[in-house]
This record gives sequence, C-alpha cells and structure tokens, in this order.
Amino acid sequence: MADYDLAIIGGGLNGVSIARDAAGRGLRVILLEQGDLGAGASSATSRLIHGDLAVLERRGFLRVRAALAERDTWLRIAPHLVRPMRFAIPAHSDERPPWLLRAGLVLYDRLASRRGLPASATIDVTHHPVGNALKRPFGTAFEYSDCVVDDSRLVIANAVDAAERGADIRTGARCVRADRTDIWRLAAIDRGHRQVITARALVNATGAWTASVAETVLRRPPPNMGAVQISQIVVRRLFDTDGVYVFQNTDRRLIFASPYERDFTLIGTVGHAFKGDPAIVAMAATDVTYLCDAANRYFRERVEPSDVIRTISGANMVINPARRARDGAMSFDAGRGKAPLLTIFGGDVTTSRLRAERAVAKLSPFYPMSPHWTAKAPLPGGDFVWTRFDAEIEAARERWPFLTEAQAQRLFSAYGSRLADILGDAKSRDELGAGFGPELTAAEVRYLMTREWARFPDDILWRRSKLGLTMPPVDRDALAAFMATPVS
Ligand SMILES: Cc1cc2nc3c(=O)[nH]c(=O)nc-3n(C[C@H](O)[C@H](O)[C@H](O)COP(=O)(O)OP(=O)(O)OC[C@H]3O[C@@H](n4cnc5c(N)ncnc54)[C@H](O)[C@@H]3O)c2cc1C
Repeated sequence: MADYDLAIIGGGLNGVSIARDAAGRGLRVILLEQGDLGAGASSATSRLIHGDLAVLERRGFLRVRAALAERDTWLRIAPHLVRPMRFAIPAHSDERPPWLLRAGLVLYDRLASRRGLPASATIDVTHHPVGNALKRPFGTAFEYSDCVVDDSRLVIANAVDAAERGADIRTGARCVRADRTDIWRLAAIDRGHRQVITARALVNATGAWTASVAETVLRRPPPNMGAVQISQIVVRRLFDTDGVYVFQNTDRRLIFASPYERDFTLIGTVGHAFKGDPAIVAMAATDVTYLCDAANRYFRERVEPSDVIRTISGANMVINPARRARDGAMSFDAGRGKAPLLTIFGGDVTTSRLRAERAVAKLSPFYPMSPHWTAKAPLPGGDFVWTRFDAEIEAARERWPFLTEAQAQRLFSAYGSRLADILGDAKSRDELGAGFGPELTAAEVRYLMTREWARFPDDILWRRSKLGLTMPPVDRDALAAFMATPVS
C-alpha cells in the first residue's frame, strides 16, 4: 500500500489549493515544496480578485461571470485576505471612448451578483478625491467594484487549512525523481535528507518548473508550452484614497496602481516571454521604465526608475506565450496499471479554488472521496462576515488596547480571527517578547515558525508579511539570529 493517496510537487497557489481540497475530501496528501510556500509566481500576481476587464473586452462573458462568482466565494471564505475596493478608470481622450468604458462596466455589473458591492458609476474627478492624484486634463473617471487579495498569505492560508485537515506539508523538500508503476515512488531531498515516498497519484504543480520537472524528475516529454514572466514595481504612496487606479496604456493594456502596505503603491503588470531559471526572475530596466511611463501619463506626482523601492517578478507556464495570457492548463494522464498523473500550471488567483476543485474531481474515479466543499468552508481566520471587517478590527483593538490602529489593521488583515493565537491574553506590547523593527514581535515570529512553516527571515519579511519594506538592516540581523536559535 502507498504511503499517501496523493503527492503534490509544488507549493504555489495551485499546489496548496489542491492539497486543501483533497485533504478535506479525505485523501491522504503530501505536498513537497523545494523552497518556501508561495516563493514562485504565486507571490508575484497582480493581487486582483476580479472578473477581469481585459477578458470582458475579448468577449469572454462566461469566464467573467464565473470569475465574478468566485469573487463572492473569496469574500465569504477569506474576508480577512480579500478586500473589496473601488477601482477608478480615468477616461483618456486617446484611448477607449467613454461610452465604451461605461457600457463595459454596466455589463460587468450585470455579470456579477454584486452582493453588497456598489455598482459602477461615472465620477467627476475635478470634485472627487480620486482626482487629487491625477493630472489636470482628467475630468471624468469610471468607478467599479472589485477586490484585492494578499496573494502570498492566500497560499499560506490554504496550506494551513490543508495541514489542519491532515495534509503533510513539507517545505525545503525537493522532489528529484518520480518512478511510475501502479503507484508513484518519489525521491525527495528533504532538508538535506534523501527520502522515498510512495503515493497512488501525483500532481505536478511546479509552475515555471513544470517542463523541467516533467523531463528530469518524471522523465516524460515536457508539455508543449512556453514561460512568461510578469513584473510589478513598488514605489512610495502616490495617492491618499483607498482604491485602485486602472490606467489605459498606449498599447491598450490596463495598468493597475494599488495601495500597498499602507505607505506604498504597487504598479503593474508588465509581461513577456521568459527563458532561464525560474528561481531567478529579474525585472528588466525597460519594464521598469514602461511602468513608470504608464503611471506618469496619469499621476500628477512623477515616478522615475530611481524611485522604485522594490521590483516583484515571477514566471509561469502558459500555453501560448505570444498572447501573454495567464490562462492556466490542466492535463490528466491515467491508464490501465499506471498511477494517475495530473499536470496543472498557470491560471489566475481568482479561479484557483475552482481549478483545484476540478483537478481533484478528476481523481474521483480512483478513490472514494467526499463531495467538493471548499466554496463554503472559511480559510483559517476567515470565520466572520466580510462586511464586519472594520468592526472586527475595532473589537481587536478593544481586546488588545496596546495595538495602534495601523497595527491592528495589519495583523487582522493577515491572520483574521487567528490573531488570538498570536496575541493570546497579552496586556501589553512587552508581553509579546523582543521586537524586530516597529511592528514584528517574537510572538508573531514564533507563530509563523511553528504554524506557518517560516524558516528564514525572507519567509516572514516578504511572504507571510511585507515588513521587509520597512525593517532596518539591524533588525533583520536580529531576526535572523532569533530564528536560528533553537526553541528551548
Ligand atoms: C503571464 C502571467 C500573468 C499572470 N497574471 C496574473 C494576474 O494578473 N492575476 C493573477 O491573479 N494571477 C496571475 N498570474 C497567475 C499566477 O502568477 C500563478 O500562475 C498562480 O499563482 C499559480 O501559480 P503556480 O502554483 O502554478 O506556480 P508557482 O507559484 O510558481 O509555484 C510552483 C512551485 O513549485 C515549486 N517547485 C518547482 N520544482 C519543484 C520540485 N522539483 N520539488 C518541489 N517543489 C518544486 C517551486 O519552488 C514553486 O514554489 C499570472 C501568470 C502568468 C504566467
């Protein structure tokens, strides 16, 4: 008998979503991630939970409707990680005509159930806060509702839920070989130790590594596809409103400028075909200039490449790199006497839960399993109604009065109701132990190490939080020393 029903290679959003779904249906699951969870493309998305206006423009109405239904699902199951926002598209005389934008947004509203989210509207930006950050020529903008997600934390939340439902999540565990008979026999280097694991079925969810894993680990012909990289830039905060700007660029692409970690703005995305090692995806200087130029067409305050605080890049596989589309793909291979193999890559964050549900359903002829369930069960910390987000933060401040409003906002957005597991009955900030920078405490670090697989400072500073943006080097060193000290 095999050790597991299902082995998954890759701890990006696709891998952890499948692990969550399958574990909750009663399968014995193991997930192998060579580095940290979400360290690949899944931490470099545009962070949008949306129907996607670009797809609407290509008349993909059914896809938009399905994605908007998923938007509702995310608000229900991850109200701490997914936040509704108003998105504003300034009308530009050289771009799509205003009537087209307005008509498109009315259709977008209609394709959504819009439970509780306000409808689209035309705004006069000369008298609206949205206009404060814009250059003078803009008079009209169109506002609509969509959502923004913390992509890296969504990966972690799925992994935590999977683990709590019995999945064995291994980080720092690289799958180096997979032999197929009627079961899979995998060899993994798990934190320096070679291990053999057997499983009845295998998922290759290795993102930009999919082809190389197929060739070198599974020793099968690689799927016919190419890699695409996407990149974004982080700059100082360019506007005061709590919404997202959508800019029509000269090449018709839509560029998003979103509030990022309170003091910053995230601008993206730019994409092109990618060749090379997916572990080192760097943003080209021309791409940085492209995004700065796009922002400078609209924002009053100029952004130069030298203002860029951080670049964020990731690569993934796509069927057709020339289209730069982020369409995902799934293939399933099973035959008499051959253990099943599922290959999955790409696809956006919005539809990741649904994709995982469909992927696991493909295994249903092979195992008894309970019906799909993930659309109704909250992710860890998300057991409250999204409209109570602000009230929950207020409640957190009453319970832990030493938290500033900004701290309560950051912590609650990251952990939701699980915040109690970090702060416990603490009455003061001092009870949370040593501090690393103005925000991070030993209590939070310990939680991240014991409950969320954090091993190294970057796991905390760039994925489980974005505190790397503000943490001074001396505090990073202290954090590294703290994390390297064995817990007594
Ligand atoms: C061009 C493009 C644009 C996109 N734009 C958007 C967007 O606007 N909005 C959006 O929501 N999404 C977007 N996406 C989707 C998003 O970036 C990811 O595709 C999605 O998060 C799913 O990622 P993944 O799990 O397939 O891959 P990844 O997150 O890259 O995960 C793969 C994991 O496999 C691990 N791995 C590799 N080899 C091994 C091995 N041998 N053993 C163990 N582990 C291994 C890697 O370390 C990595 O962590 C875009 C994607 C592309 C390609």
